[in-house]
Amino acid sequence: MDSTHTLLINGEWRTGSVSGTVYAPATGASLAQITLGGQVETVAAIDAAAQALETWRQASGMERSMLLSRTAALINERAEAIGRTLSQESGKLLREAIGEVRFSADYFAWFAAEARRLEWLNGVSGRNGGPQLVLRKPVGVVATLTPWNFPVSIQARKIAPALAAGCTLVARPSEQAPLSVIALFQCLVDAGLPPGVANLVIGQAGPITETLLDDMRVRLISFTGSTPVGQMLYERSSRTMKKLALELGGCAPFIVCADADLNLALDHGMIAKFRNYGQSCIAANTFFVAEPLYNAFVGEMAKRISALQPGDPLVETTTFGPLINARRKRELEQVQAQAEAAGFALVARGLGIEQNTALAPDCYLPPALLAAPDMTKVEPAFLEQEIFGPVALVVAYRDQEALLEQLARQSLGLASYVFAQDMTQALRVAARLEVGITGVNDGLPSAANAPMGGVKQSGLGREGGHQGIEEFLETQYLALGKPLL
Ligand code: NAD
Repeated sequence: MDSTHTLLINGEWRTGSVSGTVYAPATGASLAQITLGGQVETVAAIDAAAQALETWRQASGMERSMLLSRTAALINERAEAIGRTLSQESGKLLREAIGEVRFSADYFAWFAAEARRLEWLNGVSGRNGGPQLVLRKPVGVVATLTPWNFPVSIQARKIAPALAAGCTLVARPSEQAPLSVIALFQCLVDAGLPPGVANLVIGQAGPITETLLDDMRVRLISFTGSTPVGQMLYERSSRTMKKLALELGGCAPFIVCADADLNLALDHGMIAKFRNYGQSCIAANTFFVAEPLYNAFVGEMAKRISALQPGDPLVETTTFGPLINARRKRELEQVQAQAEAAGFALVARGLGIEQNTALAPDCYLPPALLAAPDMTKVEPAFLEQEIFGPVALVVAYRDQEALLEQLARQSLGLASYVFAQDMTQALRVAARLEVGITGVNDGLPSAANAPMGGVKQSGLGREGGHQGIEEFLETQYLALGKPLL
């Protein structure tokens, strides 16, 4: 397949009318010339999805399941090649990129099984006149809108349940890392995707999203991205009364209780903070460390940050790579200045890439550790801000109850982490947190068979697990009356 084909509409790869370039953030090199779609292509994709819905919704669960299983197998077969593309276009470490691709296959495998198990019809009692029936149906045409930070797995966890439920879809991934999503769609095509069932439109957000929002035939917007864009989609969906599934920003607290195993907390903390260089919605935002462990935690984390090896993400010895673009680097430099104004002091800064002339400096920001020995002296509003980058904040707390009350007031509620050896204590603290996901002594809680999602300003709905198919189903009640006379 020619990489300029960025549109899959009604089973055919097409080119768009506007050209664009995909760059490698690590080197600044051009990876591919692509063409972009807009309003016209989006209408064609919705037409195709609406037409395909009539037959796909009637396909048997077994048929849908087999398409998903074949797709999972192909993704796994091609994981190294797709992972390499993903690493180049997003800047994430090659091993993390391959891991993301395999994780995407997990979603197809999981929902292949869910497609077989779905109960489409249930009898209910409680009303005179015989049985009443509850029918589950696919919601209809779905739009899957996703960011660049986990471009393959986030599309996968929307596409797989949508297809399992009998929906058809129009996908719009971020144009910043589109090549790996094109490869994902090629897996679907090669697995036997019927024309129109899943369509891909890559292009600028505005015209594509507006077209999807205005079209009555699109019944669900499944979006992952920032809270402000999620709020805009929520408001703009009211006119056509679409369903919404929103996976939005996070600000995960990482709580280290006084009895925590320090090394375990640090091992997992480094993953929770520095996986994808902090550009993850569930990234640890602030480490809240019980005062007796604070000095040791800060000292040890400083050593680990200083040992991170910046470099080309394709090279095996690299442990730290580039941000997605130069704008994010400038924003994170400002975040560090804001942290210092809010009461933090710089403790450690990791290595830069000065020695490596093959790399472009625009996207490389050395990792940093900022710490504050007294939580009561830190500006609370700053602790509510999503960092979304390789800036680790560590703050000491004395009063756990005051900490939990302060966290409950925060507006974001996606992920959190609790580290403690006393499991009863760990679970009590975890249950108090108003979030959708908590890693208890676990810095990497993501799993295809578990429900992921947030509360409050972090979104609506869940993805993955048994719950992940619910967003894609409607319910119809069939009342069976008895003759009136
Ligand atoms: P973003 O909201 O800027 O972009 C997400 C997607 O929306 C992209 O495809 C982008 O092109 C599109 N978009 C941007 N502006 C738009 C507009 N005005 N109208 C329509 N579409 C628009 O987010 P980002 O910077 O790409 O990603 C980072 C954010 O995403 C962070 O806040 C992160 O926490 C969040 N995120 C959440 C999850 C989750 O599962 N909850 C997962 C990954 C990322």
